[in-house]
Amino acid sequence: MNIIILGPQGSGKGTQAELLAKKFDLEHLDMGTLLREVAKEDSELGREVYNIQNITNTLVPGRIVKEVLTSKLVSIPKEKSIVFDGVPRTLEQVEYLNNALEQSEKKIDKVFFINISGAETIDRLSRRRVCEDCKAVLIMGKDVQSESDKCPGCGGKISQRLDDTPEGIKKRLSVYNEETLPVLDYFKSKGILTEINGEQAVEKVSEEIIKNIES
Ligand SMILES: [Zn+2]
Repeated sequence: MNIIILGPQGSGKGTQAELLAKKFDLEHLDMGTLLREVAKEDSELGREVYNIQNITNTLVPGRIVKEVLTSKLVSIPKEKSIVFDGVPRTLEQVEYLNNALEQSEKKIDKVFFINISGAETIDRLSRRRVCEDCKAVLIMGKDVQSESDKCPGCGGKISQRLDDTPEGIKKRLSVYNEETLPVLDYFKSKGILTEINGEQAVEKVSEEIIKNIES
């Protein structure tokens, strides 16, 4: 059972993918993390991805997604099922993914779209901070109360990701909507798309997804 979790940033898709990976023993393929790792590399590709993510705020070009995705997929054993998180975001990426999966004799069985409103996305993301040491995601007003607070887990310094300002979020959201809505239509036409209300509690969202998988 290979699953795709789609949803705008702040929809909690990463958390849901992680929960599913644990429950059903799936490989969690998190495109955002894969790309952020590439962005740290001191290479031409690394610098290009860094600029795209932090300066121009555009989608990572197809050829880079293809390269990163393909090299990751060949490292996963054939018999292991996968939950995809943050990919595919465009119809072009759907094509890469279908081709790459075919080579590993896999196919997509279910797609979940965790839907939240634009206002909710901006509210959630602008409160998001990250621990510079342990990389934990912390919510302002919940996990930490001020910018000078330390990470409750490890005492590390907290900061905001460069692209988590309201301007950056709005830009990403409009890019997301433009590029990803055709992807949703595609999976809908295949009859494998389920939409989930992402403004419910994390446990509720998870319950709905698991119920659907097990039915
Ligand atoms: Zn920490």
